[in-house]
Amino acid sequence: MQVRCSLCGAEVELTKIHKDYDRLARDPQGVFVCPKCHRMVQVQAQKQQNPPRPI
Ligand SMILES: [Zn+2]
Repeated sequence: MQVRCSLCGAEVELTKIHKDYDRLARDPQGVFVCPKCHRMVQVQAQKQQNPPRPI
């Protein structure tokens, strides 16, 4: 199944073992974030959770 990343627009081939496969098979218009963007979002979330402390 070919899906498009909602963030960068990259097309990704999704296999049945992917955790989002069932959801996107039911709802092709659903939001999908490619692994690259997913990692970027996680890094940004961690930065927000752990703001640099002033010395
Ligand atoms: Zn992406």
